[in-house]
Amino acid sequence: MSEPLLPPIGMLAELTHRCPLQCPYCSNPLELLKADRELDTQTWLDLFSQAADLGVLQVHLSGGEPTLRRDLGQLIAGLSARGVYTNLITAGINIAEGRIAAFAEAGLDHLQLSFQGARPATTDRIGNHSGSHEKKLETARRARAAGLPLTINAPIHCHNIEEVPEFIDLALSLDAERLEIANVQYAGWALANRNTLMPERAAVERQAEIVAAAQARLAGVINIDFVPPDYFAVYPKPCMGGWARDAFMVTPDGTVLPCHAAQTIPALRFERFGERSLAEIWTDSPAFNAFRGTEWMQEPCRSCERREFDWGGCRCQAMAIAGDAAATDPVCIKSPIHARMGMLTDETRRAAADNAAGEPFIYRRIRAVAELG
Ligand code: SF4
Ligand code: SF4
Repeated sequence: MSEPLLPPIGMLAELTHRCPLQCPYCSNPLELLKADRELDTQTWLDLFSQAADLGVLQVHLSGGEPTLRRDLGQLIAGLSARGVYTNLITAGINIAEGRIAAFAEAGLDHLQLSFQGARPATTDRIGNHSGSHEKKLETARRARAAGLPLTINAPIHCHNIEEVPEFIDLALSLDAERLEIANVQYAGWALANRNTLMPERAAVERQAEIVAAAQARLAGVINIDFVPPDYFAVYPKPCMGGWARDAFMVTPDGTVLPCHAAQTIPALRFERFGERSLAEIWTDSPAFNAFRGTEWMQEPCRSCERREFDWGGCRCQAMAIAGDAAATDPVCIKSPIHARMGMLTDETRRAAADNAAGEPFIYRRIRAVAELG
């Protein structure tokens, strides 16, 4: 390992896979866990306590839809009592009046609200839930009324990429302090729906220019973060800041992972909280140690000057496209199979154009797994 193992800073807690929406790009796995597999309240509180002991400073409470957990206020209070910063990541649907204020009262520090579109019809169609846009607007208002800082999250694909200017107006109108324009990355449900979601290169380039201009124009008014799509990149991003380097995530049944898609790497076995302590998993888990640092790298990563910046990119993308989790991320221009990315985007885009007449999404829901074959 090239650097000493440090304590983790961040943790993503997927409290449940249940969700009232069915986004076709959802980062949850195709095999969704039912409610009876979820950790109970006390186990989450024990896990949070161990996370705080380990050094975790911020916890993102996510799902599925985390507000479907009736004990969410209790979980927030448990984290707050340990001085951990809490961010609630929500779709903002069907949250009973008074609950957002109660979460703030329990110690919630921040709320992140996703919009599937900037226009009501887009939001409702992508999430497959009519009336959802209006409900999200109400959640945003309640969050601001409760004094919570607000981030608007906009997952971008070919069905809403032209709405980027409207997303900026929407975030401003909701008094958000941050807007995240995050292009969909093709793992999980987004990989299953790649042929209906992939944007055109020209549209990707246009949105990058629009976002850059807005960042300059609105500096000091709103922070606009931009996550470009991997498939159109020249160098990969440091996925999760590097494999098991400063953050981890926990699935609804307590499985501890370095990132969302890690379970797509078949050679790795991930441990569950309770089998071992969080500290033991963070330090000793063979799966966590498999791609830490730089020693596992092959060429060209091994001798690359960027290896301690991007940590070789995404292991799950290397697995999905190169068939080898230890390969250089194919997104990287130095990868021997980088040309495959161009062919993949062209092929996928052609299929997306053919599908423009309206091939339905494979919406994210439990029974859809059978349809995927
Ligand atoms: S991406 Fe959509 S379906 Fe997935 S958890 Fe978020 S709101 Fe629910
Ligand atoms: S060769 Fe490896 S370390 Fe270098 S830029 Fe590409 S992915 Fe990053």
